[in-house]
Amino acid sequence: MDIMEKLNILADSAKYDVACTSSGAKRNGKKGSLGNTIAAGCCHSFASDGRCISLLKILLSNSCIYDCQYCANRRSNDVPRATFTPREVADLTIGFYRRNYIEGLFLSSGVIKSPDYTMEMLYGALKLLREEYNFGGYIHAKTIPGASQELITKVGHLADRISINLELPSEASLNLLAPDKPKVNILRPMRQIKSSIEENRHDLVVYRKPPKFAPAGQSTQMIIGATPETDFHIVRLAQSLYRKYSLKRVFYSAYIPIGTHELLPQNQPVPLLREHRLYQADWLLRFYGFQADEILTEAHPHLDPFLDPKCNWAVNHLEHFPVEINRADKEMLLRVPGIGLKSVERILTARRMGPLNFHHLKKLGIVLKRAAYFITCSGKYMEGVKFDYSFIYNNLTHDVRRTAQGLPKSSVEQISLFDPPAQQVLTGGGVGSWQSVNV
Ligand code: SF4
Repeated sequence: MDIMEKLNILADSAKYDVACTSSGAKRNGKKGSLGNTIAAGCCHSFASDGRCISLLKILLSNSCIYDCQYCANRRSNDVPRATFTPREVADLTIGFYRRNYIEGLFLSSGVIKSPDYTMEMLYGALKLLREEYNFGGYIHAKTIPGASQELITKVGHLADRISINLELPSEASLNLLAPDKPKVNILRPMRQIKSSIEENRHDLVVYRKPPKFAPAGQSTQMIIGATPETDFHIVRLAQSLYRKYSLKRVFYSAYIPIGTHELLPQNQPVPLLREHRLYQADWLLRFYGFQADEILTEAHPHLDPFLDPKCNWAVNHLEHFPVEINRADKEMLLRVPGIGLKSVERILTARRMGPLNFHHLKKLGIVLKRAAYFITCSGKYMEGVKFDYSFIYNNLTHDVRRTAQGLPKSSVEQISLFDPPAQQVLTGGGVGSWQSVNV
């Protein structure tokens, strides 16, 4: 088999792995438009300075001795198999890099012969790239569950980011569908990688130039929707992974029906919206100071398909609103839907100059079509806003509900910044204690 045939097979097999920021999109080119996307081949990651990096995304091998039921590469699946040599991986990466197609490599693999044998091959490819070709580009390498600590350390010294897939959100599901991969074989290396990163950080301060270990940290991926765990369970699990293992990212991959096991959903892809909502909830955990049990509870274990998790929290906690833009502290501003991290900083800086109104907020980039229901400026609501659960819920979900029904978006009780300034003034504080007056 020549290297291009292998590349076709091994880039296609890697498309199910979402542990990078963009991948999996498939869109054919159309007459009159420019560009197309294919699910396999390249993916993107973001550097710590915000730069977007395109990566060659391939498997070293799609042969696997394991039989994880949710995976296209499981040994019982009848698919064409291929395995690169370490030199072929290195040559391909350098070839694409020199042509300016990519800026780095995302390398994963099925388990060939044994976890250690596979890790040796991955290590061989990375060693050639770093030491023979002096390749300084970004490398994200997957570690193989069950591989020895020594090999993981060696790979960590060559890769920028390393990751190990959690695969499924519970031990029970893992035992049922991936019995060859006990939970301990996933969590032990995760703990070890965390310690190595911390030790390396310490060494970087104390010694002059120690070799760096996974400077871009570690991440993981779990498949959602293949097994019955709720969103609440998944969000709580992600929170605990961030806390215990200092992960940079948890990636969520909506299950694509490729398994035939009776416990797996058949012919029923998991809605991508569920994956999207989980990413939004994950963002709240990492950057907005939310706890998992604020986002969801045992009694309400699923994310609302019509409302993003931040709006959902706000609508169901109206006792914390409205927030007065000119006085609220940073933590409370971060809880307002439509106000992001940068917007909060802009508000804090701008209000030192004088009180802000809705025109100022619009100029600062605040998304008023979400924020307006939850804020006041100098005690005044925006024109047209009613501080009432049904009014807010219906307005916030109106377009999504119409889209879900296949209907075009239409105007509801629109709020506007440019009509005559009839505004509502807060008179007493709390829900329902305002009256509408012209100012
Ligand atoms: S070990 Fe990885 S490649 Fe092999 S069957 Fe399981 S998920 Fe697929």
